[in-house]
Amino acid sequence: MKSISQSTALYEKAQQVIPGGVNSPVRAFKAVGGTPLFIKSAKGAYMYDQDENTYIELINSWGPMVLGHAHPLIEEAVEKAVKNSLSFGAPCQKEVEIAELITQMVPGIEKVRMVNSGTEATMSAIRLARGFTGKDKIIKIEGCYHGHGDSFLIAAGSGAITLGQPNSPGVTKGTAQDTLSAPYNNLEAIDEVIRFNPGEIAAIIIEPVPGNMGCVLPEKAYLEGLRTLCDEHGILLVFDEVMTGFRLRKGGAQEFFGVTPDLTTLGKIIGGGMPVGAYGGKKEIMDHVAPVGPVYQAGTLSGNPVAMAAGLAMLSYLNEHPEVYSRLEEVTKKMHEGFQKNLESLGLDYTMNTVGSMHTLFFTNEPVNNFADAQKSNMELFKKYFHAMLDRGVYLPPSQFETLFLSYALTDEDIDKVIEANLDSLKAIHA
Ligand SMILES: *Cc1c(COP(=O)(O)O)cnc(C)c1O
Repeated sequence: MKSISQSTALYEKAQQVIPGGVNSPVRAFKAVGGTPLFIKSAKGAYMYDQDENTYIELINSWGPMVLGHAHPLIEEAVEKAVKNSLSFGAPCQKEVEIAELITQMVPGIEKVRMVNSGTEATMSAIRLARGFTGKDKIIKIEGCYHGHGDSFLIAAGSGAITLGQPNSPGVTKGTAQDTLSAPYNNLEAIDEVIRFNPGEIAAIIIEPVPGNMGCVLPEKAYLEGLRTLCDEHGILLVFDEVMTGFRLRKGGAQEFFGVTPDLTTLGKIIGGGMPVGAYGGKKEIMDHVAPVGPVYQAGTLSGNPVAMAAGLAMLSYLNEHPEVYSRLEEVTKKMHEGFQKNLESLGLDYTMNTVGSMHTLFFTNEPVNNFADAQKSNMELFKKYFHAMLDRGVYLPPSQFETLFLSYALTDEDIDKVIEANLDSLKAIHA
């Protein structure tokens, strides 16, 4: 057994001064139990905790470390930028460069505004959609996560046409009334919501490939169907590509599936590990944002020069190295096939969803095409699996409802180790 005494001690202290000892809830390991590991450093495909244990990284900061940790190009860009002051609160050249690059890379973005997180991006995009259309309601998809803005912390009603309920104290009923919901991969449910709220819906916001209910893939024609419904009813289609952006392709899921949204939200990879988000879309919509338009949105540290330097280095690399995406798919496919073989050899039939470098192993035998399907997974088995993998030096996201994000730094040997750990862990949890 490896020691985690340093992490345990830090966690004790942290709980005295930070709610739950963490600055973002999923880090507390609540879904899997045990002590969260405090990380000291990371390099390439590996992460090291305070007790000097080594882990193969399969979360990669929930996506941003797509090239692996501490990539020299990004480090260099940051070091250079730091010397010129950490913040100006005035425009700088890097903001223009990154905006130009984003508009080249992402098909649906003609103009873009930088913010500081994915949450800010989605909150701002929804305000803009409302300001642009003059309508108040939005449709969100059950099980999709769009950050912690009030409008998104809404539990689905019991049917497609019932009103949502706040699913966090502090979110008002008034806010909840403006968020309608429908299950993923179900166009009829969306159509029904639209028909019961005629002329009231500003936007449909969706993770084109949800990563926040575990990885779930769109059925054929689902995204096209949403595009058509939005066009028919004057509704803006918002793709939340905070996870999929720059990951499935350099142009995100919209490039991968060939469906162009009206607005796109970005985060995670876009800052290369620094706190950055962005929202963008068609010119005529984006020109409703202040100061050119009436929809207010601002940020003292938005477009921060150091964060822009990191993001620009990351995006430039991805833009110039298409082989990153083929390699990411190759390692992920290798892992998927290895896991498949393991499952077969043990007579198990769990569901795996994989697309690009995103992957989830669901502990259910049934297909997972929406949140209700994902919830059929056996959480007790997942918990045991998570800890079995961690004991074997593989760092997975600590929840069944999350996605693995593979990095370009993973070698074939690393994946072989992951596949072996998977076999041993599956055996151990079924012993
Ligand atoms: C992580 C995430 C967000 C929120 O981004 P933060 O930077 O954590 O605020 C929004 N949407 C999706 C799809 C995400 O995965």
